[in-house]
Formats: sequence, C-alpha cells, structure tokens
Amino acid sequence: MTEQTFTFQAEVSKLLDIVVHSLYSDRQIFLRELISNASDACDRLRYVAITQPELLADDSDFKIVLSFDKAAGTLTVTDNGIGMNRDDLVENLGTIARSGTSAFLGQLGADKKADLNVIGQFGVGFYSAFMVAEKVEAISRKAGETIGWRWVSDGKGAFTIDEAPDAARGCRIILHLREDAKEFQEPFRLRHIVKTYSDHIALPVVLVEDGKEEKVNEASALWTRPRSEITEEQYKEFYHHAAHAFDEPWLTLHYKAEGAIEYTALLFIPTEKPFDLFHQERKTQAKLYVRRVFITDDCEGLLPPYLRFVRGVVDSQDLPLNVSREMLQHNPVLGKIKSGLVRRVFSELKTRSADADAYARFWNVFGAVLKEGLYEDHERRQEILELCRFRTTSGPDLISLDQYVERMKEGQDQIYYITGDDPAALARSPHLEGFFAKGIEVLLLTDPIDEFWVTSVRDYKEKHLASAARGNVDLGKIKAPEDKPEEEAKAAPEADITALVEALKKSLGADVKDVRPSALLTESPVCLVADDTDMSSHLERILRQHRQIDQPTPRVLEINPRHGLIKRLAAMDKDGDAFTDAALLLLDQARIVDGEPLPDAIAFARRLSAAMEKGLTG
Ligand code: ADP
Ligand code: MG
Repeated sequence: MTEQTFTFQAEVSKLLDIVVHSLYSDRQIFLRELISNASDACDRLRYVAITQPELLADDSDFKIVLSFDKAAGTLTVTDNGIGMNRDDLVENLGTIARSGTSAFLGQLGADKKADLNVIGQFGVGFYSAFMVAEKVEAISRKAGETIGWRWVSDGKGAFTIDEAPDAARGCRIILHLREDAKEFQEPFRLRHIVKTYSDHIALPVVLVEDGKEEKVNEASALWTRPRSEITEEQYKEFYHHAAHAFDEPWLTLHYKAEGAIEYTALLFIPTEKPFDLFHQERKTQAKLYVRRVFITDDCEGLLPPYLRFVRGVVDSQDLPLNVSREMLQHNPVLGKIKSGLVRRVFSELKTRSADADAYARFWNVFGAVLKEGLYEDHERRQEILELCRFRTTSGPDLISLDQYVERMKEGQDQIYYITGDDPAALARSPHLEGFFAKGIEVLLLTDPIDEFWVTSVRDYKEKHLASAARGNVDLGKIKAPEDKPEEEAKAAPEADITALVEALKKSLGADVKDVRPSALLTESPVCLVADDTDMSSHLERILRQHRQIDQPTPRVLEINPRHGLIKRLAAMDKDGDAFTDAALLLLDQARIVDGEPLPDAIAFARRLSAAMEKGLTG
C-alpha cells in the first residue's frame, strides 16, 4: 500500500497548536508520557499473552529502550509491547482518544498562557512529543500481526501512514528534536528525567550509549517496595502514571493485607475533581494486578461506585492469573478484597477528618460522590454518615452529624435539614424562620444526591432526620434562647383565620393541596410546604429537569396569622375580585420564594401592578 495522508481531528490540531507554540517550562515531561505509554503497552500485551502465549514469540522480556543519534538529531523510545496496527495508529494518534484531553480542550480559551496551566492539569499524552520534536515518527507492529506501519507527522495538521515491512513488534517513537531541544540527547539529562518521573515504572528503562545498555530506573513495581524506601515524589509520579492525573494526591494509602486474603494496595485520592467524576457509567478506576501482572483498569467488583474517585493499584496474590474480566464480576476473593479496601479507605478518611481544613478540601470535591453510598450501601450507611460533612445555618464551617447532635437545643430530638440548590438562598428560606427564632441549627443540603438519600436514611444514632420544609414540624417543645425571647406578635383572632383559610381554599382551588395557619413563620406572610407524603419541591424540580415527571404537585400554602398582611386579609370582604387577586398574588409570591417558576407570569405582573397602583394612590 502506498503512503496515505490524513488530517488530524480538529481538536488535535488545536491542541498541537498550543503545544508547539508555547514555551512550556516543563517540556521534559514528554519523556514521562512516552515511557508511560510504552509501559501500558507492555502491560497490555502481558495480559493477553496469558491466554495467547504465542503472541510473545521469542521476545518475552519486556523493556523500554531509549537511544539517540546526535548526527541525525533524534531521540528514540522503543518498546516491545502490544503495538498498533494501521487502524490503531489512525485512531490513537490522530484523534483525541482520551476523554480527559477532550475535557481539557473544552476549557481552552484565547489566552495561551492560561491554557498552559490547564495542560499541566490534564497532560497531553502522546502529543507532548511535539513540544520537543519538529517531526515525530511512530513505527509499530501489533503483536500477532505480520505487517508493520509507519506514522509520521510534523504536528501541523496532518500525518501520513505507510507500510514499514521490517518493523519489530511493539512501538518505536522517533523524535526529530527541535534545534532548541538537543539537550534531550544528553545521557545525563535523560538519566535524570527517567529517575525523576519514571523510576516507578515496573519494567526496565534502558539507555543505550555507545552500544552499551544501562538500566536507568529501579524497575520494580513501586507498590512491592517497602514504604520506607519510597519518597513522596515517587508516590506522586506513580499516581500521575497510574491515574493519568496531574495534580497532587490528596491522600496516599499504601498497605499490604496479610492473612486469609493477601493483596497489596497503593491507592490515591486526587485533590482536583477528575473530569469524568459524574459520568453516567460511574466507573471505578483502580487497576487490578494479579501477582504483578496487569489485568484490568475496568473492574467493577474492586471498589463500589461511590468510591470511584479512588485511584491506584491493587495487586492480588490469590486470584488466578488467567482470570477473565467477566469472571471477576462474581469472584468471592474479589468480594473480600473489596470489603478490605472499603474498610481501609473509610478508616483513613476518618483519621484525616481530624484535620477539618484538609478534610473540607476533600469533602468539597468528593463529598457528593461518597454520599451516593448512603442509599446504595445499606450495610455501611452509618459509617458513611459519620464521614459526611454538612453546611448549616449556623455558619460557614462544615460540621459532622456528631457535632450537630452535640449542639442540639434542649428539648430538640430531631436532626433538621432543608434541601435546595443554593446554600445562601436556602439559609434565607421562610421555612427556616421558626428555626432561626429558636436558634435551632438546620443542615443545608444542596447536592442533587441529597434528595435521594434523605428519604431512605431515617436516623442517625437514634435521632430522626426531619425536613424543615414540611408542614408537620413541631418546635413547641424546644425552648427559645434567652437572648431571643419569643415575642408573640399578636395574631389575628382564630375565628377570622379559620374563615380566611376557607376563603383562600375556595379562591385557589386545585392550585394548592391545602391551606393552613403556620406556627413557624415570623417574617413572611406565606410559604409553600410539601405535604407529609409528597416529594419535596426541590426533588420534583430535579426530576422535572430530567423529564421524569411533568406535572407539578400542588403544595400546602401556610399562612402566618401574625403577619400584618394576613391580618388585613382576614378582616376584608372575601367575596370580591380584590380578595381573589390578593390570594393569587400570595400564592405566586410563595412560589417565587420557593424557586418555583410561575405558571402565568403575565397574570402575576398584571395583578401586582394593579395592587401597587392602588397602594400608591394613598
Ligand atoms: P493515554 O495514554 O492517556 O491513553 P496518549 O495520548 O498518551 O493517551 O496515548 C494515546 C493512545 O495511543 C494510547 O491510549 C494507546 O492506545 C496508544 N499508544 C500510545 N503509545 C503507544 C505505544 N507505545 N504502544 C501502543 N500503543 C500506544
Ligand atoms: Mg499516555
């Protein structure tokens, strides 16, 4: 076949443009990326060779070789891994294969300087080669195939592919170094970069100089080494490689489980939110190894989905090497490893939670994911609740449920919460007026997931969780604090309120489920509450956004008998249009405060204008 030219996917061109035209201070990381890819490729071949040993042919010693040719101005990275065929080359080195990089591209703006910071966060993988090379060749033959291929590009919009008949199995990346990047032919420089970034790679990385081979990394799997011999830097570099992440790990957890089930775990929790954290598949990402052979990074049974932010490696002694990915699903050994991992991650989180600031950093990024466990993992619900932190009406700090319980008022026997989108708006909700009056703390639950667990988690340490936005709250037993004496504003006479309630029901009809006097409102004339058995209005809005339901549920309108407006209404003639208009205005006002869109905004505006006109001509 003759040479064929392809154009890069538009996103790749955009990315390359930034990579090539910017002075990236850390450009030496291209080598880390190429070595990381080579190591992944060897891992993958080692795995398929368990069932197809013939793929290894006579070349079963995996290694990564660095060589340079000063006369030709090249640096070459060679591996004997799984390799790529023609289609693989087009797909992997012509498009953005990694969703992380696509996410990165989504954040690109006009400011190239800013973009570089973002590159640091996401990494650009293979394309980072163009930071140092004006031309890149990838010569590859896929394991088990007879024909090899050569991919060539100058990174300016297009690449070519033609046959490379004598290509060896694996992949050889030849970098034609830019004039200003010749330093990457110096052995001391290469040695230093490998030591810094790739020492944890489990395969030998070999540097060829004057025909002599020299192993330049430690070449043993990092997680098999004793903790005391591993530096923070090495852990971090390993995390970057294993998790394809570029931030600092927030948590590093390295331990060996011994006993009935033996495994080694080297796990990390990132500091930054991974781009795919809220993808629908909710995939967990830890890599499974069996006796140091990579098996899969897509193992459902290793961690529960609500711990999908945990990255790293688990290496089992007990699973069979030829375990297929399908067989893993219901493997009892894996089930035990999973319990062990969850237990360790929880206990580590608990320890770290003693430092409130550090823990808040974790919680703000991953709390919403961990809370999925509250409705998914009944067995561990109490443990997860202990790890949860909440914003409350009492101040900006996150608190635990234990802290909440400790601060409960005399006579209070329930844990109160309110759900919504925005903590600041929630804290000013009329539903909380009665709670403020008595100084009762309320949890502000603003993650969408909160709506789903609050209804299934009924108690925490024998304290019932109760919504502050339901009509049935009784704060009567709880004493108001001394500094906030209960000033009983005079309410309208009870008979008048009863008549007003009836008249409002008649005017509002099916738009409300009920009308009731409220014991809790202090400032607002009215508010809407969900009836005992109805879903909360916030949950309903979430479901409506996802088109799960289309009709709003009518709510209960609560009125404040102590409010001037309600007293005026109670005293007025309830048969005329003026009363009906006032009733409808009150309901719309309650809807607005509740965050509910008005069913007829034009009618609302007309009524409001009329009422204002009347009020202003005094
Ligand atoms: P990532 O490694 O995160 O997937 P890269 O941009 O580094 O992203 O690489 C893109 C893809 O190209 C890899 O996923 C892999 O499929 C393929 N690839 C890169 N280098 C090699 C290699 N040395 N051998 C085989 N495949 C490779
Ligand atoms: Mg890579």
